[in-house]
Amino acid sequence: MTRIGTADRPLRVAIVGSGPSGFYAAAALLGSDRHVRVDLLDRLPTPFGLVRGGVAPDHQKIKSVVRAYDKTAGADGFRFMGNVDVGRDVTVPALLEAYDQVVLAVGNESARRLGIEGSQLEGTHTATAFVAWYNGHPDHQHHAFDLSCSAAVVVGVGNVAMDVARVLAQDPERLASTDITDTALHALRASQIRDVYVLGRRGPAQAAFSPSEIKEIGELEGVDLIVRPEDAALDPASAAWLEAHGDKQAKQNCALLAEHVGRPSTAPRRVHVRLHTSPVRFLGDGALAQVELGTNRLEATDGGRFRAVDTGERARVAAGISFEAVGYRGVPLPDVPFDDRRGTIPNVEGRVTTDGTPVPRLYVVGWAKRGPSGLIGTNRADSKATVAAMLEDVAALPAIERPDLPYADAVDWDGWQRIDQHEVAAGQAKGKIRDKVVDVDALVQLARE
Ligand SMILES: Cc1cc2nc3c(=O)[nH]c(=O)nc-3n(C[C@H](O)[C@H](O)[C@H](O)COP(=O)(O)OP(=O)(O)OC[C@H]3O[C@@H](n4cnc5c(N)ncnc54)[C@H](O)[C@@H]3O)c2cc1C
Repeated sequence: MTRIGTADRPLRVAIVGSGPSGFYAAAALLGSDRHVRVDLLDRLPTPFGLVRGGVAPDHQKIKSVVRAYDKTAGADGFRFMGNVDVGRDVTVPALLEAYDQVVLAVGNESARRLGIEGSQLEGTHTATAFVAWYNGHPDHQHHAFDLSCSAAVVVGVGNVAMDVARVLAQDPERLASTDITDTALHALRASQIRDVYVLGRRGPAQAAFSPSEIKEIGELEGVDLIVRPEDAALDPASAAWLEAHGDKQAKQNCALLAEHVGRPSTAPRRVHVRLHTSPVRFLGDGALAQVELGTNRLEATDGGRFRAVDTGERARVAAGISFEAVGYRGVPLPDVPFDDRRGTIPNVEGRVTTDGTPVPRLYVVGWAKRGPSGLIGTNRADSKATVAAMLEDVAALPAIERPDLPYADAVDWDGWQRIDQHEVAAGQAKGKIRDKVVDVDALVQLARE
């Protein structure tokens, strides 16, 4: 019988999701010592996942990672199939019929919520929606963000929270030549927001932002980074932990925050970092007017972790808009196991499991595997590890014929290139890097032209 992974019978793999983890899995498979054919599916007509729809418009250097993905797309055996929603247009069991192996690279496409009182008030939003809106994700163009108030609250101190704070606080003209949507740019130009409060429930040693992100806010023209002494102060247990085990990033973050304590503020806009602080209630009559804040103390738990414990102390800050940036979680796929608590697809070393038992020939990579942590590059080693498990499993695969699934409406790589060329040309005419098309039908139309 012909062996799978040879020139006569290549290994046939479907990867669902064309973000970084999907592309890194494709690269690892196509660069392996087997003959492989990869179909990379995405529910959008455009590739690149959060690199297109998440990474901030003023971080274009980071977005240039797509050049490596372009290279993968040019490799023999690669096909892109955009505009195919797995679960809606084709099921995972149907993919398992048509392919030897299926990799889920679907990311974490929904927002975690705090669920505190007042979350239904007008003006309370998720960072997920705001980020996807300003980046032109077709699912998020219906939102309306009223930026006519003078203060905003951002809940969370990860890099997504930093992106949101920076986009709100900086001079919008810095974004004018990027690939931000025109709608978002107009809204930011009209924005009256002068104060952005960024809330972190724990202390400076536990803040999740990268040092480069907080440094960037501190250096923004026209923006002061306000840090009160109590925000930069380390509790004795965190100080001891930092001394004994603290990582470089936590030490840098503490030092960067400390540098800003007591600096006079003269700039027209301010980003206030409020640590040891949790939002307790959103208040307002129909629309958000204030956020009630609770002060926390830290309690050391097992394994060097620190828990925020409410001290009962309360304060209020006036704000007309809020953005919860408290994490992403996966969206369950029909017929695929899902860990509802973690918001990920359960797996052992990338092999999808149900009740601890591997589901034959089904794998997972990226945020769908690990949850929303790590930078773009983190997904590379992660996808490689899953591909190593897949290649280990090849010997046990049944060498049966696998019929091609018809994807009548799929946008292929040439179709994406037509979209890309159109967006870049339209951007050039407006003095922007790219003018994104934000409507799925219009994107599909462009791909077919
Ligand atoms: C707001 C934000 C900013 C970030 N900024 C940075 C940064 O500056 N630098 C950095 O290094 N990292 C950054 N990251 C992290 C980085 O984006 C992630 O590590 C990375 O995108 C995760 O890759 P992924 O492939 O797992 O998921 P994703 O990038 O989310 O890709 C998932 C893909 O799956 C597709 N998909 C989902 N469901 C289906 C389905 N049912 N059928 C078909 N396709 C489907 C989606 O359309 C998407 O294309 C940022 C993340 C966010 C949220």
